Amino acid sequence: MNNVYVIGGGLAGSEAAYQIAEAGIEVTLIEMKPLVFSEAHHSASFAELVCSNSLRSNQIENAVGLLKEELRMNNSLVLKAADLNQVPAGGALAVDREAFSGYITEQLSEHPKISIERREVVSLAEFNLTQNYVLIATGPLTSEHLFNDLKQFLGDDDLYFFDAVAPTVEAESINYNRVFAASRYDKGEGAYLNCPFDKAEYEFFYEELINAETAPVKDFDNLKLFQGCMPIESIAKQGKKTLLFGPLKPVGLIDPKTGEQPYAVVQLRQDNKAATLFNLVGFQTRLNFAEQKRVFRLIPGLENAVFERFGVMHRNSFINSPKHLSLGYQHKTCPHLFFAGQITGVEGYVESIGSGFVAAKCLIAHYQNIKHQQLPLYLHPDTMLGGMAHYVCQADPHNFQPMNANFGLVPELDAEQRNQLKQKYRITAKGRQGRRQVYALRALSYYRNIEKDIELLNEKK
Ligand SMILES: Cc1cc2nc3c(=O)[nH]c(=O)nc-3n(C[C@H](O)[C@H](O)[C@H](O)COP(=O)(O)OP(=O)(O)OC[C@H]3O[C@@H](n4cnc5c(N)ncnc54)[C@H](O)[C@@H]3O)c2cc1C
Repeated sequence: MNNVYVIGGGLAGSEAAYQIAEAGIEVTLIEMKPLVFSEAHHSASFAELVCSNSLRSNQIENAVGLLKEELRMNNSLVLKAADLNQVPAGGALAVDREAFSGYITEQLSEHPKISIERREVVSLAEFNLTQNYVLIATGPLTSEHLFNDLKQFLGDDDLYFFDAVAPTVEAESINYNRVFAASRYDKGEGAYLNCPFDKAEYEFFYEELINAETAPVKDFDNLKLFQGCMPIESIAKQGKKTLLFGPLKPVGLIDPKTGEQPYAVVQLRQDNKAATLFNLVGFQTRLNFAEQKRVFRLIPGLENAVFERFGVMHRNSFINSPKHLSLGYQHKTCPHLFFAGQITGVEGYVESIGSGFVAAKCLIAHYQNIKHQQLPLYLHPDTMLGGMAHYVCQADPHNFQPMNANFGLVPELDAEQRNQLKQKYRITAKGRQGRRQVYALRALSYYRNIEKDIELLNEKK
């Protein structure tokens, strides 16, 4: 008999254990809480939300909204828990966090196919992986013992540990009437987009930045790992002008509109080859996600910025998935070993749930020796679940970075194909909005008749 173990009862592990059990397979879910808590976890419940209670947009024309809809279509336990326990949040899906985790904990605890063990797994050696199956979903704050064991298993260079990431914005959401392309002192081509502040704009931004709310991270100030990469708001708090000699220094930059050096400048650096994403240089931050959106939109040129990824200042363990995993989050040389959640390099709550779902489905298929003639829907590249799996397992392993759900992950359509689908789906929205609707409806059309979705999109106008 092959035993199946899921390690980590967070968002990914809870979804995975449920899907495996629903397929009729006995599964043991091992969670270290409440015996051991990471620096961000506080409750003994499964699927704890470590920070915000928002699972972000609920609109299908938003990539994370589409991802949710795909999960709903697939009997996701965690999405069901979110829908049942939502609190008012406009177009977003926010939840009562305790009721949300409580529901999931109850469902998992009462499931006849799930056994629960509360203990810390310190090594993979305890599982006989030639016979048993293991799905690792221990998250960005994987316990130190297991982290070190995985390092040995995968190789030192293939388990990353980074603590400072600046936010990334969509290129299309930048106000090009405000920003200008230039490199400092005109060195090389205009490699950066520069957001110029006048004095009044800077002073307003400065006050909002130093007074903004930060995400609570236990023992943050004592953690050695954060030394040497100070959050932008901490630099700002050292003095009103400190930023002007640091990340916001304007020297060597002339705004072509005024012919003068601005009072301060935020530089945006291209973040991907396709130039669809830019990151805010030097903006590693501990501000919570809502505050990042509010305060960083005060930067001239970013008034309507769409954040592809928010800045984070916490431990974030993730493996070099493209090097080690085949499509389906399955280890390349140890086929009974699967990974899911943030440890694979997906970024965000819903993305972690999605990867838990897909990894579980792939584990089930392997366990039951199901051979698909063509890619199952959850791995189809046109869907957000599939697009994410393709990115995580097949990106360039030399430059692999965690990623939120976004429409850049699904295959691009050329203008003619897009126009054809726009007509077919009766889409009238122009530009980015129209494109997103095309990609969203294309994905959903694999799952269901999208006539209702088209009507809803038309009603919104
Ligand atoms: C401080 C912080 C704030 C974040 N804020 C947000 C946010 O606001 N919005 C957002 O979308 N994303 C946020 N994220 C990113 C990410 O979406 C979450 O971390 C998400 O919870 C990841 O899901 P997961 O299932 O991969 O890991 P987790 O939800 O962290 O679950 C992992 C589980 O594994 C357990 N575990 C760890 N090691 C072991 C072990 N050795 N043995 C047994 N059990 C173990 C842990 O106790 C935990 O329950 C944040 C991350 C961090 C660290």
